[in-house]
Amino acid sequence: MKSTILVIEDNEKNAYLVTFILEKCGYRIVHARDGKTGIAMASQIKPDLILLDIQLPAMDGYTVAHELKKDGELSVIPIVAVTSYAMLGDRERILAAGCVGYIEKPINPTTFVAEIEQYLPAGKKGDGIRRGY
Ligand code: MN
Repeated sequence: MKSTILVIEDNEKNAYLVTFILEKCGYRIVHARDGKTGIAMASQIKPDLILLDIQLPAMDGYTVAHELKKDGELSVIPIVAVTSYAMLGDRERILAAGCVGYIEKPINPTTFVAEIEQYLPAGKKGDGIRRGY
C-alpha cells in the first residue's frame, strides 16, 4: 500500500514540486495550504509523514507542530519541517516543537526523497522507483 504524506505548504510552486517528486516515487500526497486545514486533514487521513512549512499564514509551523504533538493519536506521526529559515536557533526551535528533522528550501530534488525517507519506517518507504527524472 502506498504511504501517504501530508504536505502543509502555502506556496503553490513548492507544493507542486514536492508533490511531483514524491508521487514519482510512489507516494500518495495530500496538500493543505494552511495549518488549521493541515491539522484537520491529519486527523482525518492519519498520514505516514507530515512535511511542514514553517512560514504559513495565520498559524505558523511551530504552532501546527505543537498542536499535532498535543493530540495522542497524531503525536506519533513524524513531522519534517521544510523551511527557508536558516537562522541560528531555528533548528533547535523546530526540533523543540516536535519535528524529527528539518530540510532547507530550496529543496534539492536529487536528495529530497532520501532525506525524507530516513524518517519513514522500512515498510513505509516508496517503491524505490524514480520515474522520469
Ligand atoms: Mn510558506
